[in-house]
Amino acid sequence: MDPSATDRPMIPNPPAKDGQLSFLWLPPHRVQGFSVAGEQTVVHVPELEVAFDVGFCPRVLVPCPSIALSHAHMDHIGGLPYWFSQRYFQKLPPGKVHCHHAIAQPLLNMMKGWVDLERQQTPHEVIGMEDGQEVLLKPNIWLRAIEVRHTVPALGFVVIERRNKLKPEFVDLPADALREAKARGESITRQIDIPLVAYTGDTEMGPYLLRDEFRQAQTVVTECTFFDPEHRGRAATGMHLHVEDIRELLQAWSARDVVVVHLSRRTMLSYARKRLDEVGGEGRAHILMDHRATRARYERQVNEDREATEARDGSDGAEEPSTT
Ligand SMILES: [Zn+2]
Ligand SMILES: [Zn+2]
Repeated sequence: MDPSATDRPMIPNPPAKDGQLSFLWLPPHRVQGFSVAGEQTVVHVPELEVAFDVGFCPRVLVPCPSIALSHAHMDHIGGLPYWFSQRYFQKLPPGKVHCHHAIAQPLLNMMKGWVDLERQQTPHEVIGMEDGQEVLLKPNIWLRAIEVRHTVPALGFVVIERRNKLKPEFVDLPADALREAKARGESITRQIDIPLVAYTGDTEMGPYLLRDEFRQAQTVVTECTFFDPEHRGRAATGMHLHVEDIRELLQAWSARDVVVVHLSRRTMLSYARKRLDEVGGEGRAHILMDHRATRARYERQVNEDREATEARDGSDGAEEPSTT
């Protein structure tokens, strides 16, 4: 017998695939990212040019100009200096991080630490926010901070579209009448805020999650770290949401889609799904990291779109093929 055959080490398995981003198409927004409690959370909405948290920095995040940072636990902030640095490396304008005002200075101190380590300056912008404060993300699109309660200073966020609409009494008037009213100094428009996407960050249940911005947001991205009925105490200690809180929130929020993030690695997806359905999330609550479900959902959307296109082209194009 060849001794080398038994001496040869067993071939090990390759390391587990890590950090694969998940993707949800919630028209008109994409919600993409990765989120496991205590490990990493990053939730990117490309159409709004913002990402909520930056537990690590996947390549798709580098062009994103703003981060709304919920709090400074490592699983939410780990990729921040790298993101600043990659933007600099790719000759993009300095990244902006929007954060709780209480951690703005510590963040600046951290970036100062990197200067000593790397012997170079990495451009960065740190914007501390108070409860209710807003910053402009892109034309007509505002980021509003909402103070929440966690074991450290923490913010939730709502992205709001701000439109100016004619006041009802002016809607049916001809253009010259409007011009005259304006000339008289009357304000003919009113401001309308449309909450698009809300993000809870890590938080315990509280009245701030029932504010109008959260109630009216079209999509809410919410943490839910505990699902077991016996884990309410643990949720309270860590100041996290429990699936029983989600029951109440699902009733309060009018969102068409609720994206559930920050599940613990110990929670079986099938169990989380069952519990979410029990608290009223069926058809509406999506678990970001349920890759199988999100992929199946996307394939369904692609097929529906193809069928709709075929049906349209079938009726329009059948008689006279388009020449353009
Ligand atoms: Zn966390
Ligand atoms: Zn946390």
